[in-house]
Amino acid sequence: MRWSSKISSQYPVPSSQRKVGHWVLSTGYWVLLATVTLLSAAPSADEKHISVYSPVATYTLPVLDRAGREYVGLLELLEPLGRVSSESDGRRWRLRYNAIEAEFSAGKTRAKIRGRDFDFMAPFLVENSRGLVPLNSLGELLPRFLGTPVNFREGARRLFVGAVGIQIGFQLDASDPPRLALNFSGPVNPTISTEPGKLRMVFKRDPVVSPGSQIISFANQVITLASYSESNGDAELDVAATEPLMASFTNDRRTIVVSAVPQTPATPSGAPPQNPAQAANIASGTHRVLAVVDPAHGGDERGAALTDTLAEKDVTLGFSRLLRHELEIRGFAVALLRDSDTSLTLDQRAAAANVARAGIYISLHAVSQGSGARVYTALLPVEGTSNGVFHAWNAAQAPVLPVSKIVSAAIVAEMQKREFPVRASSASLRPLNNVLMPAVAVELAPGADGVADLTSASYQQRAASAIADAVVSVRDRLGVQP
Ligand SMILES: [Zn+2]
Repeated sequence: MRWSSKISSQYPVPSSQRKVGHWVLSTGYWVLLATVTLLSAAPSADEKHISVYSPVATYTLPVLDRAGREYVGLLELLEPLGRVSSESDGRRWRLRYNAIEAEFSAGKTRAKIRGRDFDFMAPFLVENSRGLVPLNSLGELLPRFLGTPVNFREGARRLFVGAVGIQIGFQLDASDPPRLALNFSGPVNPTISTEPGKLRMVFKRDPVVSPGSQIISFANQVITLASYSESNGDAELDVAATEPLMASFTNDRRTIVVSAVPQTPATPSGAPPQNPAQAANIASGTHRVLAVVDPAHGGDERGAALTDTLAEKDVTLGFSRLLRHELEIRGFAVALLRDSDTSLTLDQRAAAANVARAGIYISLHAVSQGSGARVYTALLPVEGTSNGVFHAWNAAQAPVLPVSKIVSAAIVAEMQKREFPVRASSASLRPLNNVLMPAVAVELAPGADGVADLTSASYQQRAASAIADAVVSVRDRLGVQP
């Protein structure tokens, strides 16, 4: 854990840290997020835009309707790709891109590029010294400047410059529950949302290309098919299923694993309950709660160096697997956000928990200093407090923070019973702020045997069972969607 020193200090959160753009979820809670995104630059969902993917930049630009045709600003289109300048005397408009000169005339279809004629499919326009080119000529026009082929998918308004393009592969593991691995040829960062029967991934920034067929069907009763579509600069991949789905990232964001949210008890039916708490759960017959356990750090992001050879990311993964087991035997469905050494952004962690509609989110960290454990709940930014059902991304936690504090107090109590020195703190930590369900982070520190405890299965086990007992004791307070 690295954030112990930041407690209470990030307050309020600078707007530059609000990475809301990528993870706007399409549930009712997130309407305000869409608004925030709009104010902070990205085009709104309804506005027409074009996405440009190139080896040097990926960007979107607004598309303008003029006389029933679509136009885009030529200077803006070329600016991210090279050195560009323009000048205008009202009717004539000159452009220089790197060493290439071009001259255009307002209202005319003929232009000169590198001294040679170029004919547009609709008139060139000049508005307030801005040169506008018709979209349907881009496929011919841009290679004259860029010297590389472009692939313009005009209907979808997606423009690929040079050899960019991320392929999608599908791999269905038909075990129970089934898992669909979506393998991408490069890292991706889609917006993920769920609705009954469907998990939707929208790729705004990734040059994902069609898998060849628009519908891919799977011979499976639960995950039935995937469908691909493109429009308004975005690519969309939907996975249809007969049960609620969740998504998690592995392989440095090159793989998205889509699986059914665990529903069935981990204990085989008929097996006797293994402890009194579990017996109580089964007897009460209430809904089964999904716990999301998040092993902090991972991949290139190693977390704290606990010793010369021991990285925090490895301790958190082992500890999380133990906690998963402890929760499962107490009747919880459990999803680990990573089950291998992969990297995940904080936004991805929060979004995965939110999309899965987990009843509780538990992040695990480890530290070499101090002793015992510390339990954190979110300290929310001042300006992000609750406003009806709308919550800014950084204050998504606000409505359930009181429950998070109850969970935290229960964990402290259970750990004290097991003689862990432990205390509770609030900290302005992501992704605690960003999750919709009760959320805590537990930081495990050494016990009597020093740092060796952090890799000791019995020490971790003692902590994990304390956390699991605590979660059971507040079980009736959990659940994000009543
Ligand atoms: Zn950490």
